Amino acid sequence: MDAADVESDLVEVLFTEAQIQERLAGLAQQIEGDYPVTDGEPDLLIVGILRGAVMVMADMARAFSRHIEMDWMAVSSYGSGTKSSGVVRILKDLDTDISGRHVVIVDEIIDTGLTLSWLTSNLSSRNPASVEICTLLRKPEALTMPVDVKYVGWDIPNEFVVGYGLDYRERYRNLRDIGTLAPHVYS
Ligand code: 5GP
Ligand code: MG
Ligand code: MG
Repeated sequence: MDAADVESDLVEVLFTEAQIQERLAGLAQQIEGDYPVTDGEPDLLIVGILRGAVMVMADMARAFSRHIEMDWMAVSSYGSGTKSSGVVRILKDLDTDISGRHVVIVDEIIDTGLTLSWLTSNLSSRNPASVEICTLLRKPEALTMPVDVKYVGWDIPNEFVVGYGLDYRERYRNLRDIGTLAPHVYS
């Protein structure tokens, strides 16, 4: 099995590697404009949500031309398949004290918005200067949840997507593109 076999499990490519990089550079530029560097203030802290946001963090962080700090959280929201468990639980907390800090949460996708609305209120209770959300993808259902997302890469239809950090049963995270899975993979 080689990489081509893995890519062939995609029934449709929604976003190519090049499109993703271009969009992330745009988001980084937008965020930089919103958080001007101020003398004596700590750097902007970007918080990646493990494990799906690893690729987004790695590539977006390198698109910044200012200093940033990175930290990570792991939460559980989905089971091993494609259904939400409805339960949010911290598996790994921040190593950083965010009080007085400007924080941008970075995620790869918002579906129901359950995870990020819970996370936002959790982080807000730690007295940060501000908390905003950046997600590469957002599904329409997320629009009905009370979660205010400032930075969105793309809105996508309500389909299950994989690649570029997004998994199906822990596979496909390492695909360079984002796409939908062929039905034969599920059966
Ligand atoms: P939410 O709490 O917004 O419903 O779910 C967010 C999490 O569900 C994402 O971080 C991701 O792990 C998972 N998820 C939601 N939609 C998809 C999808 O289309 N594909 C994949 N691979 N994971 C998804
Ligand atoms: Mg995620
Ligand atoms: Mg997953």
